[in-house]
Amino acid sequence: MTTFPPRHEVLFPDTEYREQMEQALGALLRGVQLRSGAGSVMPNLAASRCAALPSFDAPADLGAVLETVVTQMTEGQVQTTHPGYFGLFNPAPTFPAELADRIAASFNPQICVWTHAPFAVDVENHVIREIAVRLGLPADSGGHFTSGGSEANYTAALCALTRHTPAYGDDGVFAFPGQPVIYVSRESHLAWLKIAHQLGIGRQAVRQLATDGAGRMDASALRDAIEADTTAGAVPIMVAATAGTTNAGVVDPLDACADIARQYGLWFHVDAAWGGALVVSDTLRPVLDGIQRADSVTIDAHKWFAATMGAGMFLTRDLGLLNQTFRVATDYMPSNDAGADLYVNSVQWSRRFVGLRLFLALATAGWQGFAQHVERGVALVDLLIERLAEDGWQCRNTSRMAVACLVPPAGSPAVTTIVSRVLASCSAWVSETRFEREPVLRVCVTNGYTGTEDVERLCSVLRSAIAT
Ligand SMILES: *Cc1c(COP(=O)(O)O)cnc(C)c1O
Repeated sequence: MTTFPPRHEVLFPDTEYREQMEQALGALLRGVQLRSGAGSVMPNLAASRCAALPSFDAPADLGAVLETVVTQMTEGQVQTTHPGYFGLFNPAPTFPAELADRIAASFNPQICVWTHAPFAVDVENHVIREIAVRLGLPADSGGHFTSGGSEANYTAALCALTRHTPAYGDDGVFAFPGQPVIYVSRESHLAWLKIAHQLGIGRQAVRQLATDGAGRMDASALRDAIEADTTAGAVPIMVAATAGTTNAGVVDPLDACADIARQYGLWFHVDAAWGGALVVSDTLRPVLDGIQRADSVTIDAHKWFAATMGAGMFLTRDLGLLNQTFRVATDYMPSNDAGADLYVNSVQWSRRFVGLRLFLALATAGWQGFAQHVERGVALVDLLIERLAEDGWQCRNTSRMAVACLVPPAGSPAVTTIVSRVLASCSAWVSETRFEREPVLRVCVTNGYTGTEDVERLCSVLRSAIAT
């Protein structure tokens, strides 16, 4: 008789062991106090570098490894869940999003085909449609979840190229009579360069247009560039406006961009990776005005919507184009439904149930709950600007999003020095960037746990940091 190796008791354990480990992990995570502002926002690089990672020659105890991992993560990263993290758009995730990850991991649905996981696919479509409607896109708009903003922007560019020249799908760039060109501003997210590389149109295809002195795309520079490219034999494809620049939360002139795109027959994309979350708020929604005219929109769920990492959204009014772009026929897939199956409508094939994170959060907080979240961030940044103005700081960007680009009072050390002093305090994380070419201190509130006391603390840290 053949003897079969038994089921592995740690990889595929029984119920009792699962419960024991879930409880142990729960206790470990409860012990992490970062969200209440304890501990350092900065990683302990020395300790992380020395962390002894196990070889895989002998199996280790799961409980012990879990403890090591949680301990190391408490020390070994910039702590985006710490309320002193005034950083890039990496949020402290919403609690429902965390739970959604646990659920998705447990059932592990394969959602690339509707018939394999109809509930999960319907949940994602529901979230996407509700957001599309709130953006003001037509009722029959749709889209899908992506790994992030970069994939969503990549999808937009693929759709734009395919609509412009359907033969691009089969013949690639050779289908175009000249260099295809996409238009963004100098302040746009430079994932566009990598995207152009991936599209095969080359990085030179990206026109990084001048801004108007306030961080917005200069609409007349856009028109001039399209005219000049056309004259030179290039092929304008797409205008990609940014609604909420990464540096400064500035919104390009969406209506003017839409007018120009329409006049020249170009695809109009709005990259609202971070700022798109303002759509939840009745008072702040007008900041995005013009977005409803877009052919497609990018919004990250893992930025201001505070989903866990690896969750973006691509929304479009031209759903048919998705299948035209991502069509493929295989024998081994259970179906090939252009109207329902994600693998024939998007970049990814196998897919995680990412949309549950936003579904659970929206279902339990409602638009109102998210409005409270974004309005609180904006109010906290307003408070910070006001407090720092008393110390002589100037805010350079005009934004109704929760980010400030600040110039220290005359006689202060360079921004780089100020930033490194703040980081050395381990109580806050801020960054340096440039706004309209001037070095500025960038402070952003994306963490729902950040409160007035954290803003006050940052102000006092900055007061010491500019003392020479
Ligand atoms: C963050 C960001 C991106 C890139 O999104 P990822 O989710 O990091 O891939 C693109 N555009 C803007 C405006 C962004 O802020």
